[in-house]
Amino acid sequence: MRNRSDGTGCANAKTTHERTDLMNTLTKAELDSLDHEKLMSRAIELASNARKKGNKPFAALLADRHGNIVLEAENTEFTENDFTRHSEINLMSAASRRFHTRELSELVMYVSAEPCAMCAGATFFAGVRAVVFGLSADSLADLWAVENPKPHVLDMSCRQVFETSATHPITVLGPIMEDEAGVPHLGYVIPDK
Ligand SMILES: [Zn+2]
Repeated sequence: MRNRSDGTGCANAKTTHERTDLMNTLTKAELDSLDHEKLMSRAIELASNARKKGNKPFAALLADRHGNIVLEAENTEFTENDFTRHSEINLMSAASRRFHTRELSELVMYVSAEPCAMCAGATFFAGVRAVVFGLSADSLADLWAVENPKPHVLDMSCRQVFETSATHPITVLGPIMEDEAGVPHLGYVIPDK
């Protein structure tokens, strides 16, 4: 069952969060120390869940410096009847209501596929400063092209969006685990809606 109250699409979105854990800026070493495989696997699992609910197979989550998941979100485009409800938008909207900007700058977003230009912008403006993604935008386009003659994708990497800011850099890791991240998209047909 979706949690309509916070718009994440996740019934079990985490709500507990120790602010005292997040008083210092996340370092590169801390980012590197995180269990990327475990966290990305969860994002991919959520992406599969989104597809089962009738939405596009995408999901994202936020993790703290200890690898604790503090918030999860799925794509909810079709169940919300709103084409802007990409998983990262849902995640950033819920996170903006829940966390201080300083806290957001100390969290890492794991997303099952590379953020599109819209979601990269939302991530930037929400204040998240570290992103790990599974499928690249190119790989996603290739996967979708199998069943969809004109896949509705933007040919722009999230790095291109983030690099337009000279003052607020965002660290990006990805693509990672593309074979696993591609599974929720196998045979996916975009609903004609
Ligand atoms: Zn997006």
